[in-house]
Amino acid sequence: MRLLIIEDEIDLANALARGLRQQGYAVDIAANGEQGLFLAEVNDYDLLILDLNLPDIDGLDICRDLHNKNPDLLILILTARDQIEDKIIGLDSGADDYLVKPFHFQELLARVRALLRRSGQERHKPVLEWRDLKLDPVTHTVWQGKRRLDLTRKEFAILEYFMRHPGKVVSQEELLEHVWDMNANPFTNTVRVHIRSLRKKLGDDAENPRYIKTVVGVGYSLSPPRSQPRP
Ligand code: CA
Repeated sequence: MRLLIIEDEIDLANALARGLRQQGYAVDIAANGEQGLFLAEVNDYDLLILDLNLPDIDGLDICRDLHNKNPDLLILILTARDQIEDKIIGLDSGADDYLVKPFHFQELLARVRALLRRSGQERHKPVLEWRDLKLDPVTHTVWQGKRRLDLTRKEFAILEYFMRHPGKVVSQEELLEHVWDMNANPFTNTVRVHIRSLRKKLGDDAENPRYIKTVVGVGYSLSPPRSQPRP
Protein backbone atom coordinates (compact mmCIF):
# COMPACT_ATOMS: atom_id res chain seq x y z
CA MET A 1 0.00 0.00 0.00
CA ARG A 2 1.42 3.36 -1.03
CA LEU A 3 0.63 6.50 0.94
CA LEU A 4 1.16 10.20 0.32
CA ILE A 5 1.50 12.65 3.22
CA ILE A 6 0.85 16.33 2.41
CA GLU A 7 2.01 18.21 5.50
CA ASP A 8 4.12 21.36 5.86
CA GLU A 9 5.24 20.59 9.43
CA ILE A 10 8.19 18.61 8.20
CA ASP A 11 9.10 17.07 11.59
CA LEU A 12 5.59 15.70 11.92
CA ALA A 13 5.60 14.48 8.31
CA ASN A 14 8.92 12.70 8.79
CA ALA A 15 7.81 11.10 12.05
CA LEU A 16 4.58 9.84 10.45
CA ALA A 17 6.46 8.53 7.41
CA ARG A 18 8.96 6.70 9.60
CA GLY A 19 6.23 5.07 11.69
CA LEU A 20 4.19 4.09 8.63
CA ARG A 21 7.23 2.64 6.83
CA GLN A 22 7.91 0.49 9.89
CA GLN A 23 4.45 -0.95 9.30
CA GLY A 24 5.42 -1.84 5.74
CA TYR A 25 3.71 1.02 3.89
CA ALA A 26 5.47 2.85 1.07
CA VAL A 27 5.31 6.54 1.96
CA ASP A 28 6.03 9.76 0.06
CA ILE A 29 5.96 13.26 1.56
CA ALA A 30 4.93 16.57 0.02
CA ALA A 31 5.71 19.70 2.06
CA ASN A 32 3.15 21.90 0.34
CA GLY A 33 -0.04 21.72 -1.68
CA GLU A 34 1.48 22.23 -5.09
CA GLN A 35 4.01 19.44 -4.61
CA GLY A 36 1.25 17.23 -3.24
CA LEU A 37 -0.98 17.76 -6.28
CA PHE A 38 1.97 17.04 -8.56
CA LEU A 39 2.89 13.78 -6.79
CA ALA A 40 -0.74 12.66 -6.73
CA GLU A 41 -0.86 13.30 -10.46
CA VAL A 42 2.23 11.26 -11.39
CA ASN A 43 1.97 8.41 -8.85
CA ASP A 44 -0.77 5.96 -7.99
CA TYR A 45 -1.53 6.24 -4.25
CA ASP A 46 -3.89 4.11 -2.19
CA LEU A 47 -4.32 6.64 0.59
CA LEU A 48 -3.66 10.33 1.20
CA ILE A 49 -2.94 11.86 4.60
CA LEU A 50 -3.74 15.54 4.13
CA ASP A 51 -3.08 18.49 6.41
CA LEU A 52 -5.67 21.24 5.94
CA ASN A 53 -3.50 24.22 6.93
CA LEU A 54 -0.90 24.43 4.16
CA PRO A 55 1.13 27.48 3.18
CA ASP A 56 0.07 27.66 -0.48
CA ILE A 57 -3.23 25.91 -1.20
CA ASP A 58 -6.16 25.28 1.15
CA GLY A 59 -6.24 21.59 2.05
CA LEU A 60 -9.98 21.46 1.38
CA ASP A 61 -9.37 22.54 -2.24
CA ILE A 62 -6.77 19.80 -2.62
CA CYS A 63 -9.22 17.33 -1.14
CA ARG A 64 -11.96 18.34 -3.60
CA ASP A 65 -9.60 18.36 -6.56
CA LEU A 66 -8.05 14.94 -5.90
CA HIS A 67 -11.37 13.36 -4.97
CA ASN A 68 -12.89 14.55 -8.26
CA LYS A 69 -9.94 13.22 -10.26
CA ASN A 70 -9.80 9.90 -8.45
CA PRO A 71 -12.82 8.95 -6.30
CA ASP A 72 -11.04 5.72 -5.26
CA LEU A 73 -8.26 7.57 -3.48
CA LEU A 74 -8.79 7.30 0.28
CA ILE A 75 -8.32 10.63 2.05
CA LEU A 76 -7.61 11.07 5.75
CA ILE A 77 -7.61 14.72 6.83
CA LEU A 78 -5.35 16.00 9.59
CA THR A 79 -6.42 19.27 11.05
CA ALA A 80 -5.82 21.55 13.98
CA ARG A 81 -9.17 23.09 13.22
CA ASP A 82 -11.49 21.39 15.63
CA GLN A 83 -14.60 23.31 14.66
CA ILE A 84 -17.41 21.03 13.66
CA GLU A 85 -17.98 22.99 10.38
CA ASP A 86 -14.49 22.13 9.16
CA LYS A 87 -15.06 18.44 9.76
CA ILE A 88 -18.35 18.55 7.88
CA ILE A 89 -16.88 20.52 4.97
CA GLY A 90 -13.93 18.09 4.88
CA LEU A 91 -16.14 15.03 4.70
CA ASP A 92 -18.37 16.75 2.12
CA SER A 93 -15.26 17.51 0.07
CA GLY A 94 -14.52 13.82 -0.42
CA ALA A 95 -12.49 12.99 2.68
CA ASP A 96 -13.09 9.52 4.13
CA ASP A 97 -12.03 10.28 7.69
CA TYR A 98 -10.38 13.00 9.76
CA LEU A 99 -8.15 13.28 12.78
CA VAL A 100 -7.77 16.40 14.93
CA LYS A 101 -4.25 17.41 15.99
CA PRO A 102 -2.71 16.55 18.34
CA PHE A 103 -3.34 12.84 17.93
CA HIS A 104 -1.70 9.58 18.92
CA PHE A 105 0.22 7.80 16.18
CA GLN A 106 -1.47 4.51 17.13
CA GLU A 107 -4.86 6.09 16.40
CA LEU A 108 -3.69 7.33 13.00
CA LEU A 109 -2.42 3.82 12.25
CA ALA A 110 -5.73 2.24 13.28
CA ARG A 111 -7.66 4.68 11.07
CA VAL A 112 -5.37 4.05 8.10
CA ARG A 113 -5.89 0.29 8.51
CA ALA A 114 -9.64 0.72 8.87
CA LEU A 115 -9.87 2.83 5.69
CA LEU A 116 -7.78 0.38 3.65
CA ARG A 117 -9.83 -2.50 5.01
CA ARG A 118 -13.16 -0.81 4.27
CA SER A 119 -12.09 -0.13 0.70
CA GLY A 120 -10.97 -3.71 0.09
CA GLN A 121 -12.99 -6.80 -0.54
CA GLU A 122 -12.24 -8.20 2.90
CA ARG A 123 -14.56 -5.67 4.48
CA HIS A 124 -15.38 -7.64 7.60
CA LYS A 125 -12.33 -9.82 7.80
CA PRO A 126 -9.18 -8.06 8.93
CA VAL A 127 -7.19 -11.28 8.49
CA LEU A 128 -6.67 -12.08 4.81
CA GLU A 129 -6.89 -15.71 3.78
CA TRP A 130 -5.93 -17.43 0.58
CA ARG A 131 -5.73 -21.23 0.38
CA ASP A 132 -3.57 -22.24 3.37
CA LEU A 133 -2.13 -18.72 3.81
CA LYS A 134 -3.34 -16.36 6.53
CA LEU A 135 -2.03 -12.80 6.68
CA ASP A 136 -2.78 -10.44 9.53
CA PRO A 137 -2.07 -6.78 8.59
CA VAL A 138 -2.44 -5.69 12.23
CA THR A 139 0.08 -8.04 13.85
CA HIS A 140 2.15 -8.40 10.68
CA THR A 141 2.14 -12.16 10.83
CA VAL A 142 1.78 -14.68 8.05
CA TRP A 143 0.91 -18.31 8.54
CA GLN A 144 1.21 -21.08 5.99
CA GLY A 145 -0.95 -23.77 7.50
CA LYS A 146 0.49 -24.19 10.99
CA ARG A 147 3.87 -22.72 10.04
CA ARG A 148 4.59 -19.09 10.78
CA LEU A 149 6.58 -17.43 7.98
CA ASP A 150 9.39 -15.00 8.68
CA LEU A 151 8.99 -12.38 5.93
CA THR A 152 10.80 -9.09 5.39
CA ARG A 153 8.67 -5.92 5.27
CA LYS A 154 8.77 -5.85 1.47
CA GLU A 155 7.93 -9.55 1.12
CA PHE A 156 5.03 -9.01 3.51
CA ALA A 157 3.83 -5.96 1.57
CA ILE A 158 4.00 -7.84 -1.75
CA LEU A 159 2.09 -10.82 -0.37
CA GLU A 160 -0.49 -8.49 1.20
CA TYR A 161 -0.98 -6.75 -2.16
CA PHE A 162 -1.50 -10.11 -3.90
CA MET A 163 -3.91 -11.30 -1.21
CA ARG A 164 -5.96 -8.10 -1.50
CA HIS A 165 -6.23 -8.69 -5.25
CA PRO A 166 -6.65 -12.46 -5.60
CA GLY A 167 -6.86 -13.67 -9.17
CA LYS A 168 -5.69 -10.36 -10.59
CA VAL A 169 -2.59 -10.31 -12.77
CA VAL A 170 -0.33 -7.75 -11.12
CA SER A 171 2.44 -6.21 -13.21
CA GLN A 172 5.90 -5.41 -11.86
CA GLU A 173 5.14 -1.73 -12.44
CA GLU A 174 1.97 -2.00 -10.34
CA LEU A 175 3.91 -3.61 -7.50
CA LEU A 176 6.55 -0.87 -7.76
CA GLU A 177 3.77 1.73 -7.61
CA HIS A 178 2.04 0.29 -4.56
CA VAL A 179 4.80 -1.35 -2.52
CA TRP A 180 7.78 0.96 -3.05
CA ASP A 181 8.08 4.70 -2.47
CA MET A 182 10.01 7.37 -4.38
CA ASN A 183 13.29 6.58 -2.67
CA ALA A 184 13.22 3.07 -4.05
CA ASN A 185 15.40 1.69 -6.80
CA PRO A 186 13.05 2.10 -9.75
CA PHE A 187 14.12 -1.04 -11.60
CA THR A 188 11.74 -3.90 -12.00
CA ASN A 189 14.62 -6.23 -11.21
CA THR A 190 13.98 -5.21 -7.57
CA VAL A 191 10.53 -6.76 -7.82
CA ARG A 192 11.88 -9.98 -9.30
CA VAL A 193 14.44 -10.33 -6.51
CA HIS A 194 11.78 -9.94 -3.80
CA ILE A 195 9.33 -12.25 -5.57
CA ARG A 196 12.08 -14.88 -5.75
CA SER A 197 12.82 -14.65 -2.02
CA LEU A 198 9.10 -14.67 -1.19
CA ARG A 199 8.60 -17.79 -3.30
CA LYS A 200 11.52 -19.43 -1.54
CA LYS A 201 9.98 -18.78 1.88
CA LEU A 202 6.62 -20.09 0.66
CA GLY A 203 8.36 -23.20 -0.63
CA ASP A 204 6.98 -22.30 -4.03
CA ASP A 205 8.35 -23.52 -7.33
CA ALA A 206 8.40 -21.01 -10.20
CA GLU A 207 8.09 -23.85 -12.74
CA ASN A 208 5.08 -25.36 -11.07
CA PRO A 209 3.73 -22.71 -8.70
CA ARG A 210 1.18 -23.33 -5.96
CA TYR A 211 1.02 -19.66 -5.01
CA ILE A 212 2.65 -17.05 -7.21
CA LYS A 213 2.24 -17.76 -10.87
CA THR A 214 4.28 -15.87 -13.46
CA VAL A 215 2.19 -14.58 -16.34
CA VAL A 216 4.83 -14.22 -19.04
CA GLY A 217 5.18 -10.67 -20.34
CA VAL A 218 2.50 -9.35 -17.97
CA GLY A 219 3.36 -9.95 -14.32
CA TYR A 220 2.29 -12.23 -11.49
CA SER A 221 -0.91 -13.65 -10.17
CA LEU A 222 -1.83 -15.38 -6.94
CA SER A 223 -3.92 -17.87 -8.85
CA PRO A 224 -4.33 -18.68 -12.53
CA PRO A 225 -6.07 -15.78 -14.25
CA ARG A 226 -9.74 -16.46 -14.91
CA SER A 227 -9.35 -16.02 -18.66
CA GLN A 228 -7.03 -19.02 -18.84
CA PRO A 229 -8.16 -22.57 -18.19
CA ARG A 230 -6.65 -24.26 -15.16
CA PRO A 231 -4.06 -26.87 -16.11
CA1 CA B 1 0.11 22.76 8.55
